[in-house]
Amino acid sequence: MPDLASILLRRSVGSLDSGRSRCATCSRSPLVGERLHEMDSGRMLCDLCLWELPEEERQAVRSERVHASERQLAVAPRAA
Ligand SMILES: [Zn+2]
Repeated sequence: MPDLASILLRRSVGSLDSGRSRCATCSRSPLVGERLHEMDSGRMLCDLCLWELPEEERQAVRSERVHASERQLAVAPRAA
């Protein structure tokens, strides 16, 4: 009989991963707080793979930080 806890864990981790951009080199989804860099060629690279490149190729067109959620956090007035 399969271990239910490990199945549920695998599914929840998989759902965290869905919809996020992946690194074109290592296929990893960068963790929250890491940056993803878009290169001239349109490839997206994680921080680690970007620093593996020779310095002359290390020119990202755009860099964006990975956020915990795609949804904006609610901003509400403080309770008195
Ligand atoms: Zn990478």
